[in-house]
Amino acid sequence: MGKLVVVGTVAFDEIETPFGKTDKILGGAATFIGLAASQFDVDSAIVSIVGDDLPKAYLTLLSDKGIDISGIEIVENGKTFYWKGKYHNDLNSRDTLITELNTLADFNPVVPANYTEADVVMLGNLHPMVQLSVINQMTKRPKLIVLDTMNFWMDNALNDLLEVIKHIDVITINDEEARQLTGEYSLVKAAAKIQTMGPKYVVIKKGEHGALLFHNENIFFAPALPLEEVFDPTGAGDTFAGGFSGYLAATNDVSFKSMKNAVIHGSNLASFCVEKFGTARMEKLEKIEVNKRLHQFKALTQFDIELK
Ligand code: AMP
Repeated sequence: MGKLVVVGTVAFDEIETPFGKTDKILGGAATFIGLAASQFDVDSAIVSIVGDDLPKAYLTLLSDKGIDISGIEIVENGKTFYWKGKYHNDLNSRDTLITELNTLADFNPVVPANYTEADVVMLGNLHPMVQLSVINQMTKRPKLIVLDTMNFWMDNALNDLLEVIKHIDVITINDEEARQLTGEYSLVKAAAKIQTMGPKYVVIKKGEHGALLFHNENIFFAPALPLEEVFDPTGAGDTFAGGFSGYLAATNDVSFKSMKNAVIHGSNLASFCVEKFGTARMEKLEKIEVNKRLHQFKALTQFDIELK
């Protein structure tokens, strides 16, 4: 069983989709990553910060999944990070209505001592300097460092982002962000350019159109499972990242071959995440359902063309 360190937000989310809206519910990148990674045989810890306004039950929910929460700092009289988003009718695009950093504004992550030699580090979407601080606390070079980021940091902290990505192995970003980071429209060219910036593996997420994995001249593609109903896409990208990094930590195999499977596992788990609001679907997800859908994935992508 490999060790996985996850850094990211544990948050209050308030979500509106064409199908309804929520009050403040549990969200945050690290929450979704941790829940997805807990589907694998992995010893994981979340490093984050919250206020004491976050219901204890949310943290218990994470620890009940076997996630070490000793790296989640609880600030007395502090307010937890809060994000409010509204999805458009096609569910592919959303507007951020509110982002309140609250305790996150002064976040100095501390990796618990028993995780500073973790095999895999998953840096969830956060300020690049916070991500770098986690890398610097590792006492042994992890086998794999994966980083997720977004356009917000490209707009507001590009130089810091360019610095941290020099130190990582895999970057996961969406197609528009890959274009923004490189100025290349072609995703193949964008991925090649990103590989010159540090990460030797580039995962480009294309929402309902799946995900691409690039490494040197190799390209691998995983579709997203066509779903009858998508309810709330919040956390799909983080769930993908959690499935990807959780699988690699559990197998302790970070080869390209293993990463192809990791992309499938990430896509598979993300397909569940979007079926209910927030974390609801991931909280109750059973291994048997996950395996059943993996079979569907395999069937979806198999064909038998005779090659001459
Ligand atoms: P995703 O849908 O995968 O992009 O992730 C959604 C999650 O990201 C939500 O649960 C939010 O709490 C969290 N989030 C939104 N904005 C930020 C931000 N600027 N920094 C860190 N986490 C964020």
